[in-house]
Amino acid sequence: MEDSFQHKGLRRKLVEEIRHKGIHDEKVLEAISKVPRHLFMDSSFIKFAYRDQAFPIRAGQTISQPYTVAFQTQLLEVKPMHKVLEVGTGSGYQAAVLAEMGAKVYTIERQKELYLLSQTLLNALNYRIHFFYGDGYQGLPTYGPFDHIIITAAAPVIPDKLLDQLKTGGRLVVPLGGSNSQVMTLIEKQEDKSYKKTEHGLFVFVPMLGGKE
Ligand code: SAH
Repeated sequence: MEDSFQHKGLRRKLVEEIRHKGIHDEKVLEAISKVPRHLFMDSSFIKFAYRDQAFPIRAGQTISQPYTVAFQTQLLEVKPMHKVLEVGTGSGYQAAVLAEMGAKVYTIERQKELYLLSQTLLNALNYRIHFFYGDGYQGLPTYGPFDHIIITAAAPVIPDKLLDQLKTGGRLVVPLGGSNSQVMTLIEKQEDKSYKKTEHGLFVFVPMLGGKE
């Protein structure tokens, strides 16, 4: 599990690339500069780890593009000690970025294989994250409410149960839409309990599916 000077150098370049593409939150860029993405990749793609691209991982899923991870994280406005729920652990990369920002991370994955692999890796890297095997549509009612909720799979609708688990003043970020592309959507829960919705461009994610595998 080596993180060499070469890896660190490649990460600095990646950070400059996504800064150039519009990520301006220095805390987010710093987190990206710290997480060793090559350790989250499938062996056949390790050499491409610091390209700004999504890549296949186990169970037919993907590790998100670093720009997309940074974009969703920037929209969340995470502060240290905030409680964040992630739906779709996948490789665990996004969860590690949130943990680097000082968040208390709770993450749910419906694929047993990925749930087990990401947990082993993040524990080995000393990230303190709470892992759950289950259906993200249900959220984690006993651990909420959360300051932030991030969905990292394409959701056809905003799951009601997740809105219920958001704190007042909290922010939920979700790629909303069908299989071709989705609109990155930010939901803010207002003091009067109403929801403010804003849209932030098109992205492509693997689908959010119900139940467990
Ligand atoms: N955040 C991940 C990206 C993973 S891709 C990363 O940084 O690598 C989306 C993930 O969401 C997949 O692993 C998929 O299995 C998972 N997923 C899809 N529907 C889900 C659901 N209902 N509950 C939990 N996880 C789900």
